[in-house]
Amino acid sequence: TARTRIFSGVQPTGHLTLGNYLGAMRRWVEVDQHRAEALFCVVDLHALTVEHDPARLRRLSRQAATLLLAAGLDPELCTVFAQSRVDEHVRLSYLMECTASDGEMRRMIQYKEKAAREQARGGSVRLSLLTYPALMAADILAYGAQEVPVGEDQAQHVELTRDLAVRFNQRYGATFVVPKATHPAVAARVMDLQEPTSKMGKSHARTAGVVYLLDEPEVVRKKVMRAVTDGGSEVVYDREERPGVANLLDVLAACTDGDPERLAEGYSSYGALKKDTAEAVVEMLRPVRSRHAELAADPSAVDAVLRAGAERARAIARPRVDAAYQAMGL
Ligand code: ADP
Repeated sequence: TARTRIFSGVQPTGHLTLGNYLGAMRRWVEVDQHRAEALFCVVDLHALTVEHDPARLRRLSRQAATLLLAAGLDPELCTVFAQSRVDEHVRLSYLMECTASDGEMRRMIQYKEKAAREQARGGSVRLSLLTYPALMAADILAYGAQEVPVGEDQAQHVELTRDLAVRFNQRYGATFVVPKATHPAVAARVMDLQEPTSKMGKSHARTAGVVYLLDEPEVVRKKVMRAVTDGGSEVVYDREERPGVANLLDVLAACTDGDPERLAEGYSSYGALKKDTAEAVVEMLRPVRSRHAELAADPSAVDAVLRAGAERARAIARPRVDAAYQAMGL
């Protein structure tokens, strides 16, 4: 019997964050690559949907790939590659644009949020920001992935991908596997430490509330100790009423494989909770940082992994994308 196939990715729009790690990467490393035929992608084409600088994008893409390996993705177990090196993503993306409607794209929360942010910065909104979910659907469907391990913020896009797969299959014949999103049990949505009502994101302009995977331990400690907490002083787990404290409990629980509500019972002050959370994050990231430093010293080895990964990915995607072209009458 065929193994489960899994696809997921990370955008090189900034330095990778604790949210990326806890929401997605850690499961890829600890679970997904061992139990399935898994493909993990630096989705560099998606990074072109917002204002970007080519030299910076190149640096960030390399750093993201290096961090995926540093976090523990093993090229012997899974396939790691860059989206732009496998043409099938763009080939299929166009067919997805011809399957989706304008209305369903405009309804996407991420589109509305990022479009508003671009406009607030005085920039223009790239058309590709609107069509982003078509490319994401192509990313997933090209590989026949059954599962897409992502943070909660990506649930809506995966839902749209399912709709497009079903619609395409109904119109043109069974071509795509209908995938489903999976989320971690704890910390599926890590919040910004300074603004605990919005998610921690790598492209936020204000960085004080964002822990980056490559932050020095002292920087991590400072950011966590300065995290915004809520009114009141007792430590309770309540994501609605006490989002700041709940976020810290989620992070601590995720780092220590604990349960956030149980953890809350053990604290009587915010200070102690912050201190333990900071240390847990520092310890969790320590091996990732040191492995990153080793790997970054030998960029050609990372390149070789990406090249081999792209070849494997292409071989998987090609026949299905060809079949989709045929099915649509091309
Ligand atoms: P961003 O650019 O917002 O950092 P990406 O689009 O690159 O995120 O997402 C990469 C993966 O990390 C996705 O699976 C996404 O759901 C997950 N992710 C991103 N931010 C968070 C967060 N704050 N909490 C949990 N998961 C997150």
